[in-house]
Amino acid sequence: MGKVAVVGAGPAGIAATIQLIRYGHEVQVYEKGRVSGALWNARRVDNYPGFPEGISGSELANQMEKQFLSHVDNIIINEVEEIRKTDAGFSIMGMDFDGVILCTGTTPKKAEFPGEDELADAGLLHYGIAEVDSWRGVKEVAVIGGGEASIDMSLNLAENNISVTLIYRSELRGIISLKELAFNEEGITRLEGEVKSAGIDEKAVVHLDNRELRFDRVIVSVGREVVLPQLVGFSIDHPPPRMLVAGDATRGNLGQVAMAVGDGVQAAIAMSEYLEERN
Ligand SMILES: Cc1cc2nc3c(=O)[nH]c(=O)nc-3n(C[C@H](O)[C@H](O)[C@H](O)COP(=O)(O)OP(=O)(O)OC[C@H]3O[C@@H](n4cnc5c(N)ncnc54)[C@H](O)[C@@H]3O)c2cc1C
Repeated sequence: MGKVAVVGAGPAGIAATIQLIRYGHEVQVYEKGRVSGALWNARRVDNYPGFPEGISGSELANQMEKQFLSHVDNIIINEVEEIRKTDAGFSIMGMDFDGVILCTGTTPKKAEFPGEDELADAGLLHYGIAEVDSWRGVKEVAVIGGGEASIDMSLNLAENNISVTLIYRSELRGIISLKELAFNEEGITRLEGEVKSAGIDEKAVVHLDNRELRFDRVIVSVGREVVLPQLVGFSIDHPPPRMLVAGDATRGNLGQVAMAVGDGVQAAIAMSEYLEERN
């Protein structure tokens, strides 16, 4: 048996943790946000087996969170900033581990227009819609970005009776069925243009080339990237034994829930084999 850290409790981290616990290992999970990760943003998941009619992303996230919490009480809600290689294994926040599974997924990119940070600090700009249930009185939202995730989030908001202006630079990209849904959704106005800057005047004010628009909230969805904690004493390109990566952290934007879950289980089995060989 060994002591394993799982960093990130999205679908990959959840699957890895449950599998490790079934093998009898001691597991410490770290999560900087909410269990189930990026899945809270998905409107509808039709490609995850077990749900013949499909399932909303938030419902699947909710079910995964429940299953996770029924197995796990060792969770620290904090961001892991650094993982240090030691002689015996690894150290995270002063705790020692025999192995680590990194399931940190992807982080939304910033759009990088002037005023973006000020809007975010004022709680008027978000990089996802995971907290939509807690928004009060929000009626008009701008979604900035032309990819599949921005279309998916726009549809999700429109289905929740929020009026959406989807602002994109040149063309909308994504699977045709999703684009068709967005084109036919009355609650979504498509607007081709580039956000030059933003400010606050009670509402969020967005400046485009030659116009100024006001919104209750702004969502920035311009892509996601892999951001790992700082790794001290090793590189992820040549990871030491018992340092494994699973889920979107290995796949970037191309990941899917089923892949993340499979990766998590696979990493847990590999970790268990490493630990047994060592004993
Ligand atoms: C809008 C949208 C729609 C989608 N639709 C679908 C769909 O229809 N079907 C489908 O299969 N997939 C869909 N996906 C993709 C799916 O959500 C991801 O593939 C899946 O969530 C990846 O799981 P993961 O565990 O690898 O990463 P994530 O879900 O990204 O989880 C990573 C977790 O790690 C935490 N974390 C990160 N860094 C640290 C740190 N340093 N310390 C502690 N915790 C940390 C994060 O807070 C997060 O909870 C969609 C995604 C989005 C954004």
